[in-house]
Amino acid sequence: MQTHLADFIRDTDKGREAEAILRKCVHCGFCTATCPTYQLLGDELDSPRGRIYLMKQVLEGGEATAITQRHLDRCLSCRNCETTCPSGVQYGRLVDIGREVLEEKVERSALDRFMRGALRTVLPYRNRFTPLLRLGQAFRPILPPPLKRTVPARLRAGTWPENAHGRTMLVLQGCVQPSLAPDINAAAARVFDRLGIRLVAAQDGCCGAVSHHLSAGDEALHFMRRNIDTWWPYVEQGAEAIVMTASGCGAVVKEYGHLLRDDATYAERAARIAALTRDISEVLRDEDLTPFRLAKPQRVAFHPPCTLQHGQKLHGVVEAMLHGLGYQLTAVPDVHLCCGSAGTYSILQPGIATRLKRNKLQALESGAPEVIATANIGCLTHLQSETETPVKHWVELLAAS
Ligand code: SF4
Ligand code: SF4
Repeated sequence: MQTHLADFIRDTDKGREAEAILRKCVHCGFCTATCPTYQLLGDELDSPRGRIYLMKQVLEGGEATAITQRHLDRCLSCRNCETTCPSGVQYGRLVDIGREVLEEKVERSALDRFMRGALRTVLPYRNRFTPLLRLGQAFRPILPPPLKRTVPARLRAGTWPENAHGRTMLVLQGCVQPSLAPDINAAAARVFDRLGIRLVAAQDGCCGAVSHHLSAGDEALHFMRRNIDTWWPYVEQGAEAIVMTASGCGAVVKEYGHLLRDDATYAERAARIAALTRDISEVLRDEDLTPFRLAKPQRVAFHPPCTLQHGQKLHGVVEAMLHGLGYQLTAVPDVHLCCGSAGTYSILQPGIATRLKRNKLQALESGAPEVIATANIGCLTHLQSETETPVKHWVELLAAS
């Protein structure tokens, strides 16, 4: 694709990056076949190719309008299109840049600004999010069913072993996960303990993904620098890896090196942190998991989050591990499609998110599983809101075996 970027962006880092990505696109349209929003809405402007055209227009100095922004807002950032694209177009980076430019050029409605501001003000801070969640949970029994579904039931954490081991790894606690599903990281710690690894939760807060996906770049970088400062002493003491139990966070922490590449103070450490970051499946696939073999098979439908299969390109890793341990994985049609959670998307685009969730649950439940397993807190909470089948993080299954 030929490009002629406008003066306002041409000679900037973002402009150069966007231009290199745009030039790879050959308009073939293969990506439209796997784009969830194009499948649902049937509008070329809600497909990757259409959005690439829209972003190109704006970056070349064309008018940026609320309609352009609406089509970018409807994108799930699922990166399914990246997996499909034969030309290696890094759509995820392009849409991040496109959204930031649109954010500067188009004024959002007051309601939109309020919603996005509220999400950024509450979600990344556990001391703000947890009291609100507990309030909702206290009233949950008397809420009408449609509202009740939106408030997850309160869950408790199991034990977190503190045994000393020769090997130590860090784990990202995250922002909403400890309040919504506190046993996920504790389950990971119990599994690691049985493998002779001490799992340390050194960090308590957001990885920066919430701000990053809401186009608040500086705020996201603030969270990233804070996490690097917290983790660095442990890295210097020999922590082997920084483990992610939420694939959405993992996809962003692995980008720290890139996102902070121009920060003279943090660039080197950010690159090292990114290199040490592993999804929990990447750690466990290299360990001897014999102690976790199932005595009695369990039927499991696995939902690989987009941030795992498309963002981190780890498709099939968890499935192979569960299969090897004796879990009976049920067939799931269209496993590449997003469930509609997509970070804050389910709150900002509830109509599309609900349709995607219902399609996904139908696919997941078509094989009559006893449990649905996934790898990201957003998908887990989103799916559980509309099914009686238990939805768990897959490491919780291992911890219970
Ligand atoms: S598949 Fe890749 S090259 Fe083809 S239109 Fe989509 S982004 Fe462009
Ligand atoms: S990221 Fe997902 S929703 Fe967005 S254009 Fe690509 S496939 Fe479509």
